[in-house]
Amino acid sequence: MERQRIFIGDNLKLENINGEACYTCACGNILGPWEANFKEGCTLKESPISSLGPGYASSDPDMENRMCFREFFCPNCGVRHATEVARIGDPYLWDVQPKLSSGAVSES
Ligand SMILES: [Zn+2]
Repeated sequence: MERQRIFIGDNLKLENINGEACYTCACGNILGPWEANFKEGCTLKESPISSLGPGYASSDPDMENRMCFREFFCPNCGVRHATEVARIGDPYLWDVQPKLSSGAVSES
């Protein structure tokens, strides 16, 4: 059966796996179902904001200490799928939230 897919980034796509749209990496690793945040299926690296470089330093150290830089990697091949700056402890931000009425990627 032919796999239908939607490319979201260079290495991230939605494709039908057993009839359900799932996020997959270019290496073939399945990162999770389409309703979920694909970042949940990634390996997370969380770093201080200061790791971004001097241009990202805040004049308010208290605020800077509440924020973090997150990187999301494929746990299989290590490619980085996403980054975000967020408050420490906050849920992952949603970069992609498709609306699929059938739960599968279909031809348009
Ligand atoms: Zn991968």
